[in-house]
Amino acid sequence: MTETLVFASAVDPVGPWRTALEALLPDVRVRTPEEIGPGDDVRYALVWKPPAGFFARHPGLRLVTILGAGADALVGRDDLPDVPVARLSDPEMARMMTHYVLFAVLRYARDIPAFEAAQRSGRWHYVHPREAREIRVGVLGLGELGGAAALELARQGFSVAGWSRTPKALPGIDCHAGPDALRPFLARSEILVVMLPLTPQTRRLIGADEIAALPRGAALINVSRGAVIDEAALVAALASGHLGGATLDVFETEPLAEGHALWGMENVLVTPHLASVAIPASAARQIAENIQRVRTGRAPEHRVDLRRGY
Ligand code: NDP
Repeated sequence: MTETLVFASAVDPVGPWRTALEALLPDVRVRTPEEIGPGDDVRYALVWKPPAGFFARHPGLRLVTILGAGADALVGRDDLPDVPVARLSDPEMARMMTHYVLFAVLRYARDIPAFEAAQRSGRWHYVHPREAREIRVGVLGLGELGGAAALELARQGFSVAGWSRTPKALPGIDCHAGPDALRPFLARSEILVVMLPLTPQTRRLIGADEIAALPRGAALINVSRGAVIDEAALVAALASGHLGGATLDVFETEPLAEGHALWGMENVLVTPHLASVAIPASAARQIAENIQRVRTGRAPEHRVDLRRGY
């Protein structure tokens, strides 16, 4: 019998997902909400921030898959059915994120913003390069994406520390865990990379006091969710010079509002939430495998714990 997967995303085109998923699952039709008709047996949902009330329209759902890694947009919704929710777990997605983090860290490690500024004023500005092992990078969050980025930074020779909720052991990474370890961790991070999920515990976790704990002139890279950082405190620290620079892919409100202070700051690089995206050709395999598991009564992999928030 043919089943239907409903695909809902305002940012990802349905075409490549339909091609990839229907090739792997010939008895599943991929439909957008507008394409669904009375004959459709909607069993699966692949979603990125679906509109309020979306799930209530599909009472036959057996599996919800998030079209990404972060579950924050689904936490606390009152229309979610009591079925497993899985996230994408895709090495290609981790690779894309690692590329962004590596680019941003290398840019600070090699003083590129200073050379960009010097070039704009026609100045020959020599800064003697530091060795990677002298540069202390801190990665907040050592999950699928955070762990992969931290390992690559260590492979590139940086002195890398990581922080997570529960203790971790990653080769070449100085691992720390729990709230008490946060301040000392921040105090040693010349370049801080934020890779935490947005949960009730991490919302505005990085406020004025935490930013003040970073060494003067530190650089901050946020690729997770804007609301993990207190944006007003971030702007103030960038304006005062306590923070030397920031690379921001995510914001409290997206798109970043016209006229927002961050747009005009010389020491800030803004990118429009694309550090990593869901890649149909590789992620479809994981989604198809999970659908087969659910069909045969097995638990899906890469489940999100909605009570925990990630
Ligand atoms: P995971 O869920 O795999 O890992 C989360 C990590 O954060 C874990 O190490 C976890 O600790 C840690 N953590 C969670 N809560 C706390 C806490 N209260 N205190 C300390 N540590 C905590 O996430 P990923 O690495 O896959 O992804 C991270 C985030 O990146 C996603 O949630 C998403 O928001 C964002 N993202 C952004 C993208 C972009 O384009 N900008 C693209 C994709 C994802 P523990 O290991 O102990 O559980």
